[in-house]
Amino acid sequence: MSVYRHTVDRSSHREFLGEGRKDPYTQDQIKAGDEIVFCAGCKSAFLYSSWEAMGGRHCNQTETLAEFPDAPRLGNVKKLQKKNTILTVFCYLLVLAIAVLGYFIYQQRKRIKDFQSRNLDQGIQISSMEDTQDKVNQKIVDISNKIDLTLDDCYDESITPINLEEKVFSLEEKLDCFVTERQNLETEKNNYKNQRDAYKNERDTYKNQRDNYRNERDTYKNALNAYPYSLSSGSEVSYQGYLSTNNQETNPILYRLYIPQQSRFDIDLKDMEADGDFEIIDSQGNTIDNSRSTSSGSDRLRNFSLQSGIYSIKVWNHSSRKSTQFTLRIRRI
Ligand SMILES: [Zn+2]
Repeated sequence: MSVYRHTVDRSSHREFLGEGRKDPYTQDQIKAGDEIVFCAGCKSAFLYSSWEAMGGRHCNQTETLAEFPDAPRLGNVKKLQKKNTILTVFCYLLVLAIAVLGYFIYQQRKRIKDFQSRNLDQGIQISSMEDTQDKVNQKIVDISNKIDLTLDDCYDESITPINLEEKVFSLEEKLDCFVTERQNLETEKNNYKNQRDAYKNERDTYKNQRDNYRNERDTYKNALNAYPYSLSSGSEVSYQGYLSTNNQETNPILYRLYIPQQSRFDIDLKDMEADGDFEIIDSQGNTIDNSRSTSSGSDRLRNFSLQSGIYSIKVWNHSSRKSTQFTLRIRRI
């Protein structure tokens, strides 16, 4: 088998020279004009002298390349680079996928462990519940036994249907008796109520009668206002009247009083909502000294001495905005 030898040309093998290859055997730089051989196994370039020195053998074979191999063109380099990039990305993705898968497996294992531990817990719970169930069953048996015993105790041979009928009859009679008694009591209660209402009515009648008498008395008293009124020693008279806002001092209400001999009097003007005043006037129309009482609230004269004669007690409203009821009380001491 012949060995294919190539002479390195400066111009046509520029790219090959640009790779700066060294002879693997001598480590000499391969340069233009060198006679070289390409191993068909690994495509390495050897100086022909080295190839001969190696006995024309490399990669366990003796074939050499007949053609000077083309240096990879620029386009091929780009394609290779692209392939490289894709391969790199693919490798990264693969690593990522493995990582994700690893994490997923880790999670699954964790869940399995959780489930296992839960199963263990549930197993414990189930056995505890089974214990409880056994206890409950035992209790049910106990209670059943007790009920049986109690039923045995309750069984009484003396109770027969005839006895029961008699008892029911007796109870019915008692019930009837109670019902009658209650009706009687209710009737009695109603009687008392009626009686009470009758008393109330009677009382109201008396009250009305009393009020009528009072009114009648007041009417007579007021009818006497226009006439001189005489009081015996130790007695008194009260006049009830009304002062409108028109009853000013120029338009007073007059009460006349006859005094047979010199006497002393307590005179009160009271029970008023407004400020009423009074004074005593003699038969000639002159005001008796110190008889005018005009303080607010209750007006009064105490232990006031009057000579024998006929007098008028003049009462009027001091307020022009407010009317008032009043009581004029005259007491002879
Ligand atoms: Zn080789």
